[in-house]
Amino acid sequence: MFSLGSSLDFELGEYFEGDMLLMSRQKKAVLAAEKNRNGLIDGVKRWPERTVVYQIEEDDFDEEQVKIIEAAMEDIANKSCIKFRPKEKDEHAVLIKGSADGCFSNVGYSSASEENDEVKQVLNLSKGCFRHGTVVHEMLHTLGFYHMQSTYNRDEFVKIIWENIKAGKEYNFAKYTNDTVTDFGVAYDYNSVMHYPEKAFSKNGNKTIIPLQDDVKIGQRVGMSESDIIKLNKMYCESER
Ligand SMILES: [Zn+2]
Repeated sequence: MFSLGSSLDFELGEYFEGDMLLMSRQKKAVLAAEKNRNGLIDGVKRWPERTVVYQIEEDDFDEEQVKIIEAAMEDIANKSCIKFRPKEKDEHAVLIKGSADGCFSNVGYSSASEENDEVKQVLNLSKGCFRHGTVVHEMLHTLGFYHMQSTYNRDEFVKIIWENIKAGKEYNFAKYTNDTVTDFGVAYDYNSVMHYPEKAFSKNGNKTIIPLQDDVKIGQRVGMSESDIIKLNKMYCESER
């Protein structure tokens, strides 16, 4: 059986929900949605022309790692209308780098705005992140996905064991509705590559998330589930944009 091991720790870092860099506008929307369940209509921007423009910081990676990054892009491209292309001129791009510790990414297209005209969108992959499913997970953040267990109706599917969560890390289990975590008409998916594992942010080795259904596993990082693929396609490929 596939085991998560400890390398998911790299994904459970210090950022918003461990591995998401949110612009202040998004943070506000998330916190408001948590309170009011208003939804994050404006919380995420899709990449224009369904194309992720990227720049790989070659100095940070060896050949094998670059291959894993490219394989993740190929996998996403093969299963959707999304395209990836290297940055060609002075244009907005996600900088794929590995110089910081941890696996983390901005959520959605995060270009310069009135709040910050120097925004550099990043996807950071340090050496513990080089598992196919983990790289895909971070790229789905880059494309605009939040975590599965954050969805508004998650309490019908999982139980959060608050007393096992490390002090100060409770915010990682925020629940909110928005236009990306919205189910797009797709059922809650325990098998999503965007779902946290059962011991995420545990302070004592006990479970922090328990599925309310028997015989399901959470936290897989093999790759996109069928539902992940369907949602990605609904988000990007079925709209006019
Ligand atoms: Zn994540």
